[in-house]
Amino acid sequence: MVNDLLIKHFPDIVDIKFTANMEEELDEVANENRDWVGVVQDFYTPFEKSLQDASLLMEKVKLAEEITEEICPDCGKPLVIKTGRYGKFLACSGYPGCKYTKPYQVKIGVNCPQCGSELVERLSKKKRVFYGCSNYPDCQFATNFRPLPQPCPNCSGLLTLYRGKLAKCTKCNYKGKLQQD
Ligand SMILES: [Zn+2]
Ligand SMILES: [Zn+2]
Ligand SMILES: [Zn+2]
Repeated sequence: MVNDLLIKHFPDIVDIKFTANMEEELDEVANENRDWVGVVQDFYTPFEKSLQDASLLMEKVKLAEEITEEICPDCGKPLVIKTGRYGKFLACSGYPGCKYTKPYQVKIGVNCPQCGSELVERLSKKKRVFYGCSNYPDCQFATNFRPLPQPCPNCSGLLTLYRGKLAKCTKCNYKGKLQQD
């Protein structure tokens, strides 16, 4: 979508010839065969005009919303993935009639060791990835390390990926080389 808008409103700049030509001119500037002020001026004068035109004429576009299989608990309509200032979140497709939203969660295919619900990848307030129970706040299980699908060989507890190549148990003190299968 961005590409289409750029081609429409900045046809000269997204042209391959423009890039090749500009590279050549910049080489000439670098080799001191050419004055950089003239090169930049040749570029900037028409660009400034295109920019002004685009800011007036470029249509406001809405990003397509991705529909999920999750259902709004308030009204029964499907939830959609929206992108806001702080990243992705889920919102009810019945908006503005229904204002239900919830954090975007990525399922990782591993179940919570405490309650058996699915674990999900989430972002903390400080934008760090962590893994928590989808049953939060009823279940408070969370870990900073990526949970692994295979159980601990010692206690069958939850293993997590530790330092990129070790499997570490969250229950006993087992730590071992990651088994790739
Ligand atoms: Zn709803
Ligand atoms: Zn849980
Ligand atoms: Zn264990």
